[in-house]
Amino acid sequence: MQFYAESLTEYKRLATLEVKVGDLLLGNFHPIRVQTMTTTDTMDTSGTVEQCIRCIQAGSELIRITAPSKNEAENLLNIKNELRKRGYTTPIVADIHFTPNAAEIAARIVEKVRINPGNYVDKKKFELLEYSDAEYVEEIERIRHRFTPLVKICKEYGTAMRIGTNHGSLSDRIMSRYGDTPIGMVESAMEFLRIAESENYYNIVLSMKSSNPLVMVQAYRLLIQNMHAELGHCYPLHLGVTEAGDGEDGRIKSAVGIGTLLEDGIGDTIRVSLTEDPEFEIPVCRNIVRRYSNLQIPRFRASANTKTRVNEIKSPSENIENSIKDEGKFKQAETSKSLSTGEGFRERSRRESFEVNNIGNKHVPVVIADLHKIKRITTDDLETIGYTYDVVTDKWNISDLAADYLFTADQPIDFHLPGTLKVICYYDTWLASTDKEKYLPIFDVKGFAASPVKHPNMNFVMLDCLNNNDVQELEEYLKVSPIGGDLEKSVVLCLSSTNKNAVQSIRSMFFELKEREIKNPVVIITDGSHESMDENLIHFAIEAGALLLDGFGDGICLGHRFAEKKVPTDHKLLNSIAFGILQATRTRISKTEYISCPSCGRTLFDLQDTTARIRAVTNHLKGVKIAIMGCIVNGPGEMADADFGYVGSGPGKITLYKGKEVVKRSVSEDVAVSELINLIKENEAWVEPS
Ligand code: SF4
Repeated sequence: MQFYAESLTEYKRLATLEVKVGDLLLGNFHPIRVQTMTTTDTMDTSGTVEQCIRCIQAGSELIRITAPSKNEAENLLNIKNELRKRGYTTPIVADIHFTPNAAEIAARIVEKVRINPGNYVDKKKFELLEYSDAEYVEEIERIRHRFTPLVKICKEYGTAMRIGTNHGSLSDRIMSRYGDTPIGMVESAMEFLRIAESENYYNIVLSMKSSNPLVMVQAYRLLIQNMHAELGHCYPLHLGVTEAGDGEDGRIKSAVGIGTLLEDGIGDTIRVSLTEDPEFEIPVCRNIVRRYSNLQIPRFRASANTKTRVNEIKSPSENIENSIKDEGKFKQAETSKSLSTGEGFRERSRRESFEVNNIGNKHVPVVIADLHKIKRITTDDLETIGYTYDVVTDKWNISDLAADYLFTADQPIDFHLPGTLKVICYYDTWLASTDKEKYLPIFDVKGFAASPVKHPNMNFVMLDCLNNNDVQELEEYLKVSPIGGDLEKSVVLCLSSTNKNAVQSIRSMFFELKEREIKNPVVIITDGSHESMDENLIHFAIEAGALLLDGFGDGICLGHRFAEKKVPTDHKLLNSIAFGILQATRTRISKTEYISCPSCGRTLFDLQDTTARIRAVTNHLKGVKIAIMGCIVNGPGEMADADFGYVGSGPGKITLYKGKEVVKRSVSEDVAVSELINLIKENEAWVEPS
């Protein structure tokens, strides 16, 4: 297998080994399993049991429960017995950090243990040390010594294991050699995987989580490639974006990261980590997984619980392969040699395009608001897309989430538009408009070629992703057109697909454009046809997010395909989702970013309430990243690249961080939010809300 997926142009699931978790089979083309994690104190048996039941009833197929010490690990037996007594057989997963003793107890009780290779043996001191090769090998031997007993217990009891790497909690050893990179994340897991395989233990699932979807996606891809290169087979993958936050942003971030991988057939189980009660995570998981339920075609069966070589994986077609090679985009992980040296890893590269007005080249992706279904667009409608008209001053207030273009189809606007907003409309409407600077035409390829008049600087042209003749026709027309290069430089392409595999279709068209050396900027058009906006949100985040995350696209336009009477279109929400997708893919930062942990039995304050209070006073701080973490044991390690951190350090006590550095310890919870604001001000990251 040369790259990380079976195909980049059609949906094919990645072949993985089969893993048995109690009675549940995972990997090897079994349905993608959904799971969550409890937030109760594990010593509270009845509270934890009740929460488990709510999650199971919502559809969770596995339940993870934290076991921070031996006591909690032992209490898993009471929880399990009570659940079984009440008829619930859902497998339980013990979540372990720092305490091998707890893991060894839990592995005898529950169906699966999750260990974090960053802190299973290593105590993190946030020190950058220089390791000689001999010292490094010595550390690995120390891990082998401490980890092998757990592997043996798992083998004996038939317990599964997840080696769950977190971007934010890599060991000092890994950090010293690889930094906090996807390569470091992969090697962190591989160290443990090699030890497990040397004991002939294969009942393993792996994860590579990060709060940054880009890092997370790259780490999983790199891991797959590395497993194939070094082991010749691939373990099932548990997908998740850590500390995704809550509400709309948490859902978008999760869907972008998880969905990008699922689109390529990668992923055997998923968890959406929201700062909400765990049962609310399950409908989000199900909305994500539902997209693939009709697309899962078993092609290969690995024998259960055995080491199986996967030889059937084929490279993508040569054309695509060359495109990828040229782009350098998916070449991050070439061999285990590159892994060991850290070479070969590349950041996302954006597709090369020239600029047309403010679209393409180095411009941030634009947002096109589709208001064409509104019969007569008024100033109030523009408020939904970030423009508020002040009658008294006769001025427009423009928010950070203001759309850049407006699509109206056949409708002219009968009021003065804000200076920064332009209207995209059909040819006849454009031709009739008096302000040709404000109004811009949109065509299909044939219409563009046939129309006698075009805009001198900016024309939008729709391309059908399922029709190669379309792009050929466009290319030929641009070459022979009387105004030649100037006309070509005025074209913004609009790509959409109604195909079920829209991501693959649009991606194929991007490859086609590259093949033909067409460098016009591209807007990705994504229509949602689900009745519920929850499902549409997931759909938009995956379809547009998966392409943007790989550097494709210079703008997005989200549309809602339902008849207005049946399901009214919420334009404000669509606009917010569009900016949320750009934020989650880190292609355009327009709001504050929150990295808040989902909470668990260790949490020291009310995370949901505190996140809401912090959000209420900081949500105008565009681009500032604030972490809100429930405990000091894992919080500081897992808050990744946050600018400021609010971390529970004891009952009623908060420790505040600037980056990874402790700035104020044991602040009373009553004043901790205002102290956080003071800290942001002291570091000149504060602006007054307008
Ligand atoms: S950071 Fe949050 S989710 Fe992670 S262990 Fe601490 S309280 Fe639990």
